Amino acid sequence: MIEVDNLHKRYGPFSALKGISFRAEKGEILGFLGPNGAGKTTTMRILSGYMPPTSGSAKVAGFDVFEESFEVRQQVGYLPETVPLYPDMTVKGYIRYIADLRGVAQAGSRVDEVLHLVGMYERRESLIRSISKGMRQRTGIAGALVHDPPVLILDEPTIGLDPRQTLEVREMVRTLGKERTVMFSTHILSEAEQVCDRVIIIDRGQIVAEGAPQALRDQLQKGGRLFVRIGGSFTPETVRKTLSGVGGVSSVTIQPEGITVEARGSQDIRARLSAAVVGAGWELLELRPLAMSLEDIFMEITAQQEKPERKN
Ligand code: ATP
Repeated sequence: MIEVDNLHKRYGPFSALKGISFRAEKGEILGFLGPNGAGKTTTMRILSGYMPPTSGSAKVAGFDVFEESFEVRQQVGYLPETVPLYPDMTVKGYIRYIADLRGVAQAGSRVDEVLHLVGMYERRESLIRSISKGMRQRTGIAGALVHDPPVLILDEPTIGLDPRQTLEVREMVRTLGKERTVMFSTHILSEAEQVCDRVIIIDRGQIVAEGAPQALRDQLQKGGRLFVRIGGSFTPETVRKTLSGVGGVSSVTIQPEGITVEARGSQDIRARLSAAVVGAGWELLELRPLAMSLEDIFMEITAQQEKPERKN
């Protein structure tokens, strides 16, 4: 449904996108994750047909975003970061206005349908200025949906919402994603984990990781971090010395609740570690991989990216 190939975008001398490529299939919810300034909005604007790329290609439902931007806009519902709502219009009046602009057939019934879909039908006669930020966001999503596009692109749809509104919007994205391809950006990593089938992590204009949230975690956890608890008579120094001496161990951190041992690369050090503990005459009470959150993964990936750049 979305095919992006070696996409570049420059703003004057500044390279905002440095050759990104990815795909989103029909019926997939794709999370687009990255820190501020990573290039999320730039990518989404290009995919919605609102801005041309500098080079590379992007297609939505088979249409080229640059050559066939009219068709692309028919296929895409785009919710920008700041939704341009008119405060003096009613919710329904605004959706009707968008429907007319888009030339939606049977606009009256379609407007009611999308108002139901986003849970705003009861508030349809309220002035936009009087509704909450969460309701405004849902009204914006209704506007993006009114022409019934197969692809929805939502730029940080939960930003600035309170926890309840955030949950409501996430739930709505999941529902909408059952029948559509949804791409949504966020910098809240746990949000992507809860909502998305697949996640793309972008940093400074480049894709640094891609996969199902669980697969991403597994990929980085191969070597990983282990939590160890031991019993017996020991001092922090003897523990550190013994465990640091195990082949493949890159660091040992001793805390009151237990010891965190980091492995080098993708080595499985569990057998050697348990042998070293037992060999030192201690009891091995616990040895388990430490689960990494997407936050940890994100920090790890972006830190890896930084290293080579610093050398240049
Ligand atoms: P945020 O989460 O802050 O919205 P983002 O990932 O959406 O960040 P973009 O808005 O795509 O990032 O911006 C990518 C980079 O391009 C940033 O460094 C930004 O300052 C720069 N940029 C964006 N728009 C322009 C513009 N019109 N002119 C010059 N630079 C721009």
